Amino acid sequence: MIAAPHFDVAVVGAGPAGSAAALVLARGGRRVVIIEKAVPPRYKTCGGGLLVRTLLLLPFDIRSVVERECFTAELHHHAPGLSFSARRERPVVSMVMRDRFDQLLTTAAQNSGAELFAGTSVLEVASRSDGVELKTSTGLVTARFVIAADGAGSLVARRAGLPELRHVLPALECEVTVDAARFEKFRHAARFDFGLTPHGYAWVFPKREHLSIGVLTTRRGSCNLNDEYARYLAHLGLDGPVKEERHGHMIPVRPREKMFAVPRILLVGDAAGLADPVTAEGISAAILSGQLAAQSILEGTDVQRAYREKLQTTLLPELRVARVLARVLYDFPRVRAALFARHGQRLSELLTRVVMGETSYRDAVRRPEDYLKLFRKRRP
Ligand SMILES: Cc1cc2nc3c(=O)[nH]c(=O)nc-3n(C[C@H](O)[C@H](O)[C@H](O)COP(=O)(O)OP(=O)(O)OC[C@H]3O[C@@H](n4cnc5c(N)ncnc54)[C@H](O)[C@@H]3O)c2cc1C
Repeated sequence: MIAAPHFDVAVVGAGPAGSAAALVLARGGRRVVIIEKAVPPRYKTCGGGLLVRTLLLLPFDIRSVVERECFTAELHHHAPGLSFSARRERPVVSMVMRDRFDQLLTTAAQNSGAELFAGTSVLEVASRSDGVELKTSTGLVTARFVIAADGAGSLVARRAGLPELRHVLPALECEVTVDAARFEKFRHAARFDFGLTPHGYAWVFPKREHLSIGVLTTRRGSCNLNDEYARYLAHLGLDGPVKEERHGHMIPVRPREKMFAVPRILLVGDAAGLADPVTAEGISAAILSGQLAAQSILEGTDVQRAYREKLQTTLLPELRVARVLARVLYDFPRVRAALFARHGQRLSELLTRVVMGETSYRDAVRRPEDYLKLFRKRRP
């Protein structure tokens, strides 16, 4: 009988969280395998907008897969009809297609020594005293530790007995090709629209030759996203595109509280519920949590606790503040409209500074003069 291949760490999922973790572990000299059910490059439902804070986490240049750099972010608020824009010398958002971006990250991990089992689904997870046994579609794999980077519907989390993620946002992403004249109108800026989609927002992210257009809501069941998307296209004057592909998926914006790890299994990225509740951006948290989980394993003592502590000093306080801001933004449309009417440009700048990594949500609320000003009347 052939023995199951054994690794120091098995990473389930070759998204940004999994590949970031595998890269750190491989560079740290661990024998690591990434088990991915698809065969890269695979499509991933995502706007593919990378923020500066995402790029800062990556230890290599990703320009080869960037389709477009947007130096301007446009923020529109409907009813009242208001528009603001924030421009920077550096790109505010770098646009990628996730198939190529994710493959670049996975290849970097492989080049550092990680193995990739592609086209292999993890089906069952069994804990043992000295490690974890994974039953996969191509055979058994054993490892001392498992990193669950298998996304919002994490099978590993379910098999490990962890509860379902509590707050996931339904989102629709459409890859839209339009004629050259209409493409020209939208190709220069990352565009965000509030006040159209109930309890959510809509966006246009220009890629090399097409537009990624999406809608999301923070309240499940409050609207039909297909209808909202059609309304948004009509609003933009983009109905009747040349070509269109629609994809729906969930974005988890509520962390798993204290359940980020069980013995020998650490959850990262969407599997841990770490996307930003204000922007629904999840790639930076995926990469950072993957790196933190890997570092905890490399350090080697009380891995579970070390990982939780690292999250508690980095991502979690930021997400807590973001959750409060998201409530104001999405649950109180009148307050939001009033804030935009009075201080839209200031809000756009503040949000841009957060996504540029120039400030954090925490710093913004720590300096009361910044947000108290938002509630004061403008001088005539
Ligand atoms: C519509 C939409 C738009 C978004 N736009 C943005 C954006 O513009 N910017 C941004 O930063 N974030 C965005 N996000 C969020 C972002 O896509 C996620 O937060 C991010 O992909 C999380 O990365 P991850 O590595 O944790 O998981 P994923 O990227 O989901 O990767 C999980 C991987 O695990 C694999 N897998 C799953 N189950 C198994 C299994 N049983 N066995 C083996 N492999 C398995 C999957 O095939 C997949 O490759 C968006 C999300 C949605 C839905």
